Amino acid sequence: MTIPALTGPSLKKFRCSLLTWFVEHKRDLPWRKTKDPYRIWLSEIMLQQTRVAAVIPYYENFLARFPDIQSLARSRAEAVLSHWAGLGYYSRARNLHRAANEIVAGHGGNFPNEHEAALALPGIGRYTAAAVLSIAYDKPLAVLDGNVARVLARLGALRGDLRAPSTWQNLETTAQDLLAQKSPGDWNQAMMELGATVCTPKSPKCGECPVAPWCRARKLGIAEQLPEARKKRATVQVTIAAAVLIDPKGRTLLVRHRDNEGALFSHMWQFPAVESTDEKQSLLAKHLQDKLGVKIKPGQMTPLKSARHAVTFRDIRLLPFLIRVERLPTIDGAQTPALLNFGRLAISNATRKIARVAIAHVRVLE
Ligand code: SF4
Repeated sequence: MTIPALTGPSLKKFRCSLLTWFVEHKRDLPWRKTKDPYRIWLSEIMLQQTRVAAVIPYYENFLARFPDIQSLARSRAEAVLSHWAGLGYYSRARNLHRAANEIVAGHGGNFPNEHEAALALPGIGRYTAAAVLSIAYDKPLAVLDGNVARVLARLGALRGDLRAPSTWQNLETTAQDLLAQKSPGDWNQAMMELGATVCTPKSPKCGECPVAPWCRARKLGIAEQLPEARKKRATVQVTIAAAVLIDPKGRTLLVRHRDNEGALFSHMWQFPAVESTDEKQSLLAKHLQDKLGVKIKPGQMTPLKSARHAVTFRDIRLLPFLIRVERLPTIDGAQTPALLNFGRLAISNATRKIARVAIAHVRVLE
């Protein structure tokens, strides 16, 4: 991929124009006030698949509880997950915690400043390694994420699927060629900021763009058409039947599924649940009997209002059932919190949605 006239003095002017714009227009974000690699790393992980506005309160709460890598490594995974609860994509939190332990064990508690060492940590790919090392340590590594790829595709009027491996590799080379070597951290942030605020997916603001003179898509009048739409992975419909057991004291039962047990939210506390293909209660009743030893009598399961939950390509229909029991079963490692207050237990948004439906139902009956 080539961007017209981006060599020699023109490239210098291009870099200068974008960096000046960044200094004047960058958003005031908490992770931009620091060069601490831990804080930058945390922000980059939280920002994956999550909007800036949603991340800010989580970022601040997380740092109040885990102010440095050592405190994160010392904590139990459960505590880390409970501070992540609601942010979604929980493998990010588990990897963050594992990586903190590896950093303490193998790097003296300091985020490694070598590319290969950073890439070897759990949950750190090329993008995150380049972002942390360039911003915290001024390493000349260009980032390539969706925002940067869109800007580059428009600058070079590149057609086709940007995520196709050869195209992505091509974009990585272009991003690295454009990188301002003396200020790689600012440069990377400027490219991402341009994509997030000016060169947006829909209606790019070309009139306000600091690199408009170099943009081939703008000249051709095709900025809005690029990047071309990717072939979407087909949505998979999933139905989950969940049991909200409740005892006379208002306590319920939360369990944790292990990996590969068919659960969608492994490691998080959740209502006993089973994937189902229809609305029949028999699968859930069988699951409760086989796994928890709870025998359900006819008519004991009250169907509650269903809820929807989306996770990547899965469209999940949640079917909760309220089941009143004299006594909750005694299960090793399970939790029996009050349905009205789960405290700081690490629960997923799907579990929260089911709890809300059940609480609303119980309150109507009170
Ligand atoms: Fe994007 Fe328009 Fe700027 Fe080109 S001129 S980089 S399309 S905002």
